[in-house]
Amino acid sequence: MRSRPLCNPVLFPTHRSQHCETCFKTRIPASAAAATTTSKSARELERCSVCKKRYYCDRTCFTVAWKGWHRWICADKDMEDLDYEMLKMIVMSIERLRNGSFRDTISSAAPDASTTATTAGMPLQEPLELTAYVFSTLMGHSTVSDPGTLAKYEEIATRVREQLIQIKFPFKSSVSQGEPPSVQELIQYLCRFHCNNFSIHDAQLFTMAEGTFPVGALFNHSCRPNAIVMYEGQIQIVRALEDIEVGQEVCSSYVDNGVQRQERRLLLKEKYYFDCHCPRCEEEEEGEGDEKEESKDMVESESKKTADQRKTGFRILDDLIEGDQDGPNGDGKVDGEWLTKQFEAIILPGAKSLQMVGPPLKAPKIFTRASFTSYILHSLVPLIQSGATEAEYRARLFDVYGKLQSTEHCQPKPFTTTVMTHATSFFNTCLEHQSWRLASKIGCFILAQYLMIYPRHHPLVGLHGFTLAKSLWNDVEAGMTSVRLSYEILGLTRRILKVSHGIQRGDENGDLVREVEAFMKTVETELGSSPLPSPSA
Ligand SMILES: [Zn+2]
Ligand SMILES: [Zn+2]
Ligand SMILES: [Zn+2]
Repeated sequence: MRSRPLCNPVLFPTHRSQHCETCFKTRIPASAAAATTTSKSARELERCSVCKKRYYCDRTCFTVAWKGWHRWICADKDMEDLDYEMLKMIVMSIERLRNGSFRDTISSAAPDASTTATTAGMPLQEPLELTAYVFSTLMGHSTVSDPGTLAKYEEIATRVREQLIQIKFPFKSSVSQGEPPSVQELIQYLCRFHCNNFSIHDAQLFTMAEGTFPVGALFNHSCRPNAIVMYEGQIQIVRALEDIEVGQEVCSSYVDNGVQRQERRLLLKEKYYFDCHCPRCEEEEEGEGDEKEESKDMVESESKKTADQRKTGFRILDDLIEGDQDGPNGDGKVDGEWLTKQFEAIILPGAKSLQMVGPPLKAPKIFTRASFTSYILHSLVPLIQSGATEAEYRARLFDVYGKLQSTEHCQPKPFTTTVMTHATSFFNTCLEHQSWRLASKIGCFILAQYLMIYPRHHPLVGLHGFTLAKSLWNDVEAGMTSVRLSYEILGLTRRILKVSHGIQRGDENGDLVREVEAFMKTVETELGSSPLPSPSA
């Protein structure tokens, strides 16, 4: 589903020089552009000559911005404040819609809008009237916001209001009758913005801007989402991560699913004012009124242990990944030498073994980082590769959870998010130092952890797969074994990214899938030109 922002999204000041403020296209670094590209506009953004602060692809994008909003903000020194900027943009957008002077900047900013919007039968995003209407219905939770925050909003609202009067922004609609909205109304806008805003990210999931997308905000949250929010320029795309049944709720996630239970609950409560009742959190809410039928029969004296045993499916996940122990002393302190020893034990899977879907695997005697990696990858990757249905995949995943729960594991527990965080930063260090073998092993471990925590088609899984495949391919000493595994992981990556990023041409998300395919061709050539020994065990 495509939906639009209520007003032009606000780029983080630190990201302004890398993105066009109108179409949000990413600037190609001059060095890379020099080798491949033709026109100057493709590699360098042009700066507004008056404020020297905002960047645009070219004259066209600048003109759209100037007529649409930039002339009203160009000289405003307060625009360095994100809340201030967003509020001012929202007010201007709503007023221009009310007085009929709104021009659709989105379709005029994207020269290829006609093709990008309608290929594959996708309808254009909703009309702005609807966007604005939905914004008026969103919850701002201003009654539960703390007084300090509201005081801050009031100060911002007052400043925005005075500034709009000072620059003589035309409030000529019948609703406004020459006046900007009252400070109280502006505070409501800010509250609504804060409970419903989105961080806009690029294809690599790096955030760069904040946006108000009222229609996208209607989707509820789940810690096990079946949809993901992506962006094409400044259009928001809500993509299904799996087959969704008729009548089943479509949920995205407001927080990172890799965050532990307590932290997630805190984040959701502080920013969005709710307790999560998703399939992963449900158990937490027992005894709070809307629990499942079966738990009503629970006797009060039932011990915690018995309650744990009753947990099934996603409800086990948080128990599994909980814990902050890592390092030789379990105090969370790790160093390179110790980490190297932990991850070196991992045996890279053979490419062939990731293709064969078999019955559920027997769990190892004890879960270490090595046996965990091998067990998860062999259990789940073949199902993803074969395009198993969601029900089949879930059944396998829950079987995996059950085994992880009932089998002994080494100390520190290998599958906590703490271990994952350390592994991720060590993975990046190894990539920097071109220690490809070790990087590949850690990369496989991280992939296993991701598959345990995130939906299989989550963009993070695909992006990580691509990095892992490159690392494997770079491990020249490992010869064809590593090349074959790289090819297998690329196939997995492509499958995932097609779902998470789509295949739209001329869009940064879709381009990523094509980048993976181009890389696959290179690897394929290498595989084709060498004799294929039987895959190693
Ligand atoms: Zn542009
Ligand atoms: Zn300017
Ligand atoms: Zn939840």
